[in-house]
Parts: sequence; structure tokens; C-alpha cells
Amino acid sequence: MKIDSNTKIYGLIGHPVGHSLSPIIHNLAFEHLSFNCIYEIFDVSPECLGDAVKGLRALNVKGFNVTVPYKESIMQYLDVISEEAMKIGAVNTVINENGILRGYNTDGYGFIEAIKDEGEEIAGRDIVLIGAGGAAKAVSVSLAMNGINSITIINRNLDKALTLSNYIKNEYHIDCTYCTIDELNELKNIDILINATSVGMSPHIDESPVKEQVVIKSRFVYDLIYNPQKTLFLRYAFKNGIKCANGLGMLVNQANHAFKLWTGVNFNKELIYKHIQVEGIMKTM
Ligand code: NAP
Repeated sequence: MKIDSNTKIYGLIGHPVGHSLSPIIHNLAFEHLSFNCIYEIFDVSPECLGDAVKGLRALNVKGFNVTVPYKESIMQYLDVISEEAMKIGAVNTVINENGILRGYNTDGYGFIEAIKDEGEEIAGRDIVLIGAGGAAKAVSVSLAMNGINSITIINRNLDKALTLSNYIKNEYHIDCTYCTIDELNELKNIDILINATSVGMSPHIDESPVKEQVVIKSRFVYDLIYNPQKTLFLRYAFKNGIKCANGLGMLVNQANHAFKLWTGVNFNKELIYKHIQVEGIMKTM
């Protein structure tokens, strides 16, 4: 990679950001497309967020991703926010257009594309969504915008499940309810079961947000977690011959959408998957 005065800078802000795959994905894509661009990581401490955004604007950083814990707090520093990001209440991608900062959310798009990449339909399906945090909101908004039949939300904190289900119901006029984990045991069939909690993430790899009896009622199972590649939740699905996928597809698709917002083109997803597998990157995380 040759860096000169024309090199365009992109990056990621978050705290902590050490284990992010985003620099690997975007730098590989820039290199493959021979774009004179570089993607950097910026670990920003909470008291510095406003100054960091001023700095990114002043240094003409062309675009940046935003990760935990700033997806919501970043919004106050931006000039324009897309309709989808407003509905989700979070921004994960920013474009710097001559000093005007525009915020988008590509997580929902990444999720929907990942499901489609698995050959699964979304329209008309009955979904059970585990979780009511930021990722669950992005997923539920995007499902509601893509013709879902119903969503049932479960969450450890039931008040948050109620708030999210009311929001989706009122905003999109679709069948969206919430229930407890015990009530979930009474459901007969689930078209798509989604884990949007952090339960099962390294190092807590022997935890699942629901029991195997719930997983086996599902036709397709998706875990937003990609590290580890096979959470206990996904292992329940594998063991019972149920089609399933981890969150790598969502990550790569959300990155691809951000890349398109910044550069006007998509990158080659297969190249990225191959690189991550060949280099054994997921195993070293
Ligand atoms: P968040 O806003 O902090 O929400 C965390 C969620 O996990 C909440 O629903 C929380 O429940 C639940 N939870 C946490 N610890 C729990 C426990 N011990 N028992 C039961 N529930 C627990 O985080 P987020 O941004 O939504 O992220 C959630 C997951 O999605 C993370 O694993 C993240 O890595 C993943 N993610 C993946 C992608 C991708 O591209 N693949 C993108 C975004 C996020 P309470 O409300 O009860 O606390």
C-alpha cells in the first residue's frame, strides 16, 4: 500500500475497538480495487467523543464507522441523519461530504442481506427475536420494513422487550409481541429464530440465550455473534440438523453497504470471506 497526499482516510471509532474485523475487510477491499484509501482504527475514550468528531471533520477523514458504545451518542454531532438511522435510533456509518457529516445505519441492511445470502425468505415469516438492545432494534426495524408477518421479542429485561415491541407495532403496524422465555416454550413452530444478545460471545462460549428445546422448534436459526463461529446456540441447531448461520454474513454485508456509501461501489464479498477463512482470522480472535 502506497500512502501519499491523495490517500483518502476512512476509519472506525469505538471503545474498545481492538478486535474489530472492519480494518481487515475495508483495507483488503481498497487494495483489491486499487483505491488510494486506507481504513484506520480510532479508540476514542468517552470524554473525547465530541473532540474526536471535530478532528475527523477537520482532517477531512472521508468516512467512518461507529461501534459500541457510540452508535447512539454520535448522532448529536452529525449534520444529517438518514430516515432508517432515525428509526433505528443509531448510526454506524458516517460520510464526510465537504465537512457535512451524514449518518446512516447499515446494520439492518447487513442483516437482511445475510439472511437472503442464506437463501431464506423474509416476507411473510414468523420470527422470534432474542434481545432488545441496539442490534435487536436494527434487526426488528429492518424485518418490519421487509414484509415480515410477525415478530415475538424475548429479552432478559422484559421492560425493554415491551418497549421495543410497542415501538415496532406502532411504527410499522405489524404483529409484534413480547413474551418471557417460559412462554416461548409454548410456541409450536418458529420460522426464523434470531439471537441478537451478546450471550455466547467469547469468553462465555458455553452459554446460550435459550434452551435446546426452543432451538429445535425452528426452521432456520441465525446468531448475530460471529466470534466464536459456532456458539452453543448454533451448536444446538447443528446437532439437530437445523439450517443456521453466524453473524459474519451480517458483518460483511453491513461493511459492504458502508463501502458503497463511501465509494459508490460494492466490494467482492467472496474475496473477503475467502481471505478471512484462508488466513484463519476468526480463529485467532
Ligand atoms: P446491547 O445494546 O448492549 O444489547 C445487549 C443485549 O444482550 C440485550 O438484549 C441484553 O439484555 C442481552 N444480554 C446481555 N447479557 C445478557 C445475559 N447475561 N443474559 C441475557 N441477556 C443478556 O448490544 P448490541 O449492540 O445489541 O449487540 C448484541 C450482540 O449483537 C453482540 O453480540 C454484538 O456483537 C452482536 N452484533 C453483531 C453484528 C454483526 O454484524 N454480526 C452487528 C451488531 C451487533 P438486557 O436488555 O436484559 O440487558
